[in-house]
Amino acid sequence: MPDTHRHDLLGDDPDVTLITPSAPIATPTHGGRAKCLQRLVRLDLPVPRTVALSFATVHRIATGDMPDIGAILSCFNPGALLCVRPSSEDPDWGGPGSFLNIGMNDASYVEWSDTLGRDAAAALYLRFVQGYAVHVARLDPDVFEDIESTGQEGLSQALRAYEEEAEEPFPQDPADQLAEVLRSMARAWEGTTARLLRQAKGAPLDAGLGLVVQEMALGLGQGECGSGVLQLVNSDTGLPQITGRYLSQSQGREALERGQASLFLECDPRGPSLEELAPQAFEALKTYAGFMRRKLRAEMQIEFTIENGRVHILDGVRVKRSPRAALRIAVRLAEDGIISRQEAVMRVEPRGLSELLHRQISPEAQRDVLGRGVAASPGAATGRIVFSSSEAQASAARGEPCILVRRETSPEDVRGMHAAAAVLTERGGVTSHAAVIGRGLGLPCVVGAVRMGFRVQDKLLVAEDGRKFREGDVLTVDGTSGQVLAGAPAMVEAALDDAFHIFMAWADAERDIGVRANADTPADAATARNFAAQGIGLCRTEHMFFDSERITPMREMIFADAPEDRKAALARLLPMQRADFTELFRIMEGMPVCIRLFDPPLHEFLPNDRAGLRDLAEALDRPVSEVTRRVESMGEYNPMLGMRGVRLGIAVPEIYDMQARAIFEATLEASRDGAPVVPEIMLPLVSACKEVELVRTRIDAVAAAVRNERGAEFDYSLGVMVETPRACLRADEIAQHAHFLSFGTNDLTQMTYGLSRDDAGRFMSHYVQQGVFAEDPFHRLDAEGVGELIAIGAERARRGNGGIMLSICGEHGGDPDSIAFCRAMGLDYVSCSPFRVPVARLAAAQLAIKDKIG
Ligand code: PEP
Ligand code: MG
Repeated sequence: MPDTHRHDLLGDDPDVTLITPSAPIATPTHGGRAKCLQRLVRLDLPVPRTVALSFATVHRIATGDMPDIGAILSCFNPGALLCVRPSSEDPDWGGPGSFLNIGMNDASYVEWSDTLGRDAAAALYLRFVQGYAVHVARLDPDVFEDIESTGQEGLSQALRAYEEEAEEPFPQDPADQLAEVLRSMARAWEGTTARLLRQAKGAPLDAGLGLVVQEMALGLGQGECGSGVLQLVNSDTGLPQITGRYLSQSQGREALERGQASLFLECDPRGPSLEELAPQAFEALKTYAGFMRRKLRAEMQIEFTIENGRVHILDGVRVKRSPRAALRIAVRLAEDGIISRQEAVMRVEPRGLSELLHRQISPEAQRDVLGRGVAASPGAATGRIVFSSSEAQASAARGEPCILVRRETSPEDVRGMHAAAAVLTERGGVTSHAAVIGRGLGLPCVVGAVRMGFRVQDKLLVAEDGRKFREGDVLTVDGTSGQVLAGAPAMVEAALDDAFHIFMAWADAERDIGVRANADTPADAATARNFAAQGIGLCRTEHMFFDSERITPMREMIFADAPEDRKAALARLLPMQRADFTELFRIMEGMPVCIRLFDPPLHEFLPNDRAGLRDLAEALDRPVSEVTRRVESMGEYNPMLGMRGVRLGIAVPEIYDMQARAIFEATLEASRDGAPVVPEIMLPLVSACKEVELVRTRIDAVAAAVRNERGAEFDYSLGVMVETPRACLRADEIAQHAHFLSFGTNDLTQMTYGLSRDDAGRFMSHYVQQGVFAEDPFHRLDAEGVGELIAIGAERARRGNGGIMLSICGEHGGDPDSIAFCRAMGLDYVSCSPFRVPVARLAAAQLAIKDKIG
């Protein structure tokens, strides 16, 4: 056995280091595995001797500069078999596979035959020869295809085949073997495919690879021997549960002799367990795992061998974990006093939270992918295909979950969306109608699946590979990944359990930017409260009219030619709006509620088929031909830049008058029997200060009238949505007429780029793939361009009105990177879809903690 001072033999070279408690080893220079092994050594756990090679050394090896192999070998017992394992900075970046049994040669084969028996020793040697031939000497694997014999005969054939193909005998010197293995692993890391793969997982361009050379504890011998892995928690749930696998030599010998078993095969579930075979070793492993949990401050998976009842710990890695397991593990570690609450909050990836809030496809499920689109609203659902809103409602009435398949959705589909389990559309991007409504409802949604065939008239959906699906066929929409799948893969349920609530409370204690929800309906508001939103940051009132019972009076109002017709239609809408707002105020119990006045792109309210035209003609008591003419005359070439938002409020002021009245009357009603309400009224699509002045004068007049009629006082605040570039530039004068400004970054992105929200999905993937945009700017705020406009807007707004409240209510409000930008801009709150509220709360908390710990 080499003495403990032997590491001095490696000299002062910190790049090739025997892992001892004090060796200079760090994750950024030697990788996570090397560092973790050192921690295990420091804990005095039975870890076989291990030498760590730094990133710099491995890089030099790839360029042909070998370290002193003799010095490395001198650290180990003479004749020991060695393995080499990768040690990258982040284990998720992968690396070349581990290489086992280095040192096997003709001489050691004879020695191992005495201990293990000839056939088992031959199997080990054979596997080494084959692995070396393919991965190191780069021989064609077919070379060994004809070898059917096992044992010594098979081994002899393999050695002959190697010699013929490589034109040299199989290397016998362990130093040569080790040098070549190191060279092949170092080169594999530098290959283009490996580099691209790890970059896709977030590795930087110059990510290094460390290697560890370890003496093998084979887990082979006369007493109980075997190998396996063990951990103390369930990787899916995070609940305490001892899991793992173990291959006892007694169970595995036969397979090993056939050369078919690796040392880490799953133990035969019918056979005896590790606990039965080696109770003391099992107890020791549990103790080690608990010790590692406390000392390494993480749930670890132990890789071990047992040799004649004695445990060796080969490696420890953080257990693989689903997002729900990650959260529970972090909470338990903090509750056990092992990590702080702040650290627990930092350990959960905010985007992973959405997996807890929705049903998801099980990670183990087989995926038969039919097509892909934009992942517009997370979660997954299975159902039978329907091609219209009415079929979706019929299906819901029968209690059958359905998937609503449309080319795109419009207000007429909202009822169908309520009835459906998920939505799939051919057109659209992350801010299109289907996407926004889908997220609001918590409904899984994939949009912009342009490579699938949507033959809606024929009730036919064609997969990317040409398979055809008809009405009634079962599909699954995965709004988390953007995939459309055939059939019904296994699902995991949402997990809003105690651990979730405890964790979120810890996050909120750290957070320093407000989080509100975009909520249009009582159901949205209830979800928002459930997720602890601090108010409603955007109530899109036009969404309140998508319901089929309301869309007709709405259309009558829009179509009215004469003031008295419009008045009549508005009189029908007023009580509906008053009831809507009263309910929202009651649900929110005194929390701020920001109501945006009507902002319809008009085309969303125009009937677009014959049946719709006939219905409207009936309601208006006019001939279809006249209604059709009027619809055509109101058609706009570009409705998203047409008579939207405040422009409608200026052109047809009675609409905003009605809404203001409904808001004020609801304010008095809700304040009478609940917490006092101070409504926030917001004007959409403003581009000129004068628009605000005009509308404000009318709203003030309505407020005065209501106060007068009711003999009661109330307050309200008026704000402006900043969603045109001009509003950003003129924010100083606009702010002088407003109590608050909210950046509507969906429209602001659309107008800054000159990029249609509804059509961007068609080419966005090309743009992102070719690196024109780093990310879809509707998804992640473009900090450079749109962000500069926001910075200008915020700075000028504060100059114009020192007390102004600033916020964001575009979809970016729920994106962690965009939230970082908003926080850096000093915004008071972000507002996002209710189901993204927890993600936003956690992302904001992590930003605050990062600032605190520097
Ligand atoms: C926006 O434009 O960012 C916004 C929130 O409004 P909408 O999506 O309703 O246009
Ligand atoms: Mg907008």
